[in-house]
Amino acid sequence: MRRVLLLNALIFAVLAAAVALAYYGYSYTSEAPRERERALMADLAEEKLQNIETVIDDADTKLLRAVEIDPISNLADLLLPTGAAVARVIVLDDQLKIVPGGNVSTRPKEREVPGFTDYFMTRILPELQLQKQPLGERRHLFLREASKPGQPPGRWYLFSFMRRQTADKTFYVVIEDDPAHLIYGLFPQFFQGAGAGSKRLYQVVDELGQLVYGVPFDGEGERVVRRSFQLTVDGWKLLITQAEVGDDKVAQRKKLVDSILIGGAMTVILAGLAFLGFAIRRERRLNELKSEFISNVSHELKTPLSIISMFGEMLAEGRTKSPEQSTEYAEIIWRESVRLGRLIDNVLDFAKMERGMGVYEFAESDLGDVVARAIELSGRRVQTANMQLSEDIEPDLPPVQLDANAFTLAVLNLIDNAIKYAPDGKKIEVSLKREGDRVVLAVRDWGPGIDPEEHERIFERFYRAKSVRLKPIRGSGIGLALVQHITRAHHGEATVISEPGKGSTFRISLPISGKNDR
Ligand code: ADP
Repeated sequence: MRRVLLLNALIFAVLAAAVALAYYGYSYTSEAPRERERALMADLAEEKLQNIETVIDDADTKLLRAVEIDPISNLADLLLPTGAAVARVIVLDDQLKIVPGGNVSTRPKEREVPGFTDYFMTRILPELQLQKQPLGERRHLFLREASKPGQPPGRWYLFSFMRRQTADKTFYVVIEDDPAHLIYGLFPQFFQGAGAGSKRLYQVVDELGQLVYGVPFDGEGERVVRRSFQLTVDGWKLLITQAEVGDDKVAQRKKLVDSILIGGAMTVILAGLAFLGFAIRRERRLNELKSEFISNVSHELKTPLSIISMFGEMLAEGRTKSPEQSTEYAEIIWRESVRLGRLIDNVLDFAKMERGMGVYEFAESDLGDVVARAIELSGRRVQTANMQLSEDIEPDLPPVQLDANAFTLAVLNLIDNAIKYAPDGKKIEVSLKREGDRVVLAVRDWGPGIDPEEHERIFERFYRAKSVRLKPIRGSGIGLALVQHITRAHHGEATVISEPGKGSTFRISLPISGKNDR
């Protein structure tokens, strides 16, 4: 019992391991390319962001360092080579006052923001905390102009600034960068590859999540990589995702192939396990049947033996009343010893057959003779059972290849079964006829018959029909297995035609000589 439990646990464990493996395999094949793609996009986002910010950082730092105060540089000249990114430069002295000539804008008059300088001095300047900044380092501030409730959001401002010192004079340089330059100049320049046919889509969103640049796509989901700007427009984010283009087909095909392989492997493992389970169950059943067989055979051996020894003892001690009784006792002993002999023959032949030894010796013989001999051998048993045996053997049957001894044993088994299981039917009919290119032996009785569900199983070794298991009819379950084996060795077929309550007909059909070497 413990072994069975252990085996079941083992099968279950293998099953669980196989399922886990399949799951892992499947999720790996579906996740791995996605993971790789994500890592790739993350690297790309990092690189693009750095490139864009470096352009501004470098240009601004250069400009912030180029401005001189004593005398004040010509700012307009300095601004010329920086392009459109810089909108204005303001230079302040150590008192945070704008120095003369220290406020220059590159914007054309019509795009000037009215009142900007005032706005800068009152609202922005305090926030820059210029006096607290380290010397010679670019700092930046990105902000959005506060708007009144109900009004559209105010404009963006990006400032770069630096505390400077020449001789013993401290001064401050502030650059106003134009965020529009990012949106219309730098972003297209860096993301232009992201046009039609590209694998990736780019998007820049502001601190409120609103699209500033790029194609709209759903910014959520695991296929989107996000990175924040840090040196310039803080709070804005760059989003990259994979465009659904034909390239996906290759990945999909690979996924399909992987899934098929995993599915196939799983099926093989499951089939293997099912087969193992089936084989174990079969083996267990066979073992049960074998031990049942041993107890049956021992019982069958014991009964005739005790009868023989009992009547033998009576005869030896002269405990008989008349010579007739002595004859009767001797007959009983003879009958039981014949039965014993038959049983031993059966068991020995069966054992040989089990070991697969070549037990048959074929010769061209007359089947009629063999059957007649078997009938003769059964005569006395039929008589004792109070039954009638009629025979109908077609004369002049063609010869067949036969092991006469083995075949006699087969016929004896069939007649014995009829005597054993169908004595109430009183009749047994043995016929041997030609049917086309075959010779057919039929042993018919009018006994209890056999359930059609068991027609095949009764030919299995050790199998006994359910209806007889509880009856006191002796048997070992190897008779019909032997019949089947012998018949097959003769290239023939053994079958039964029977219905419960209507008797049984066992048929052995053999090919006629010359046609049996199939
Ligand atoms: P045994 O007779 O030793 O049990 P067999 O292999 O000869 O073994 O027969 C197998 C089973 O087939 C029997 O147990 C019995 O149930 C059934 N059987 C065989 N012959 C007959 C028959 N003539 N009538 C009814 N049942 C039969």
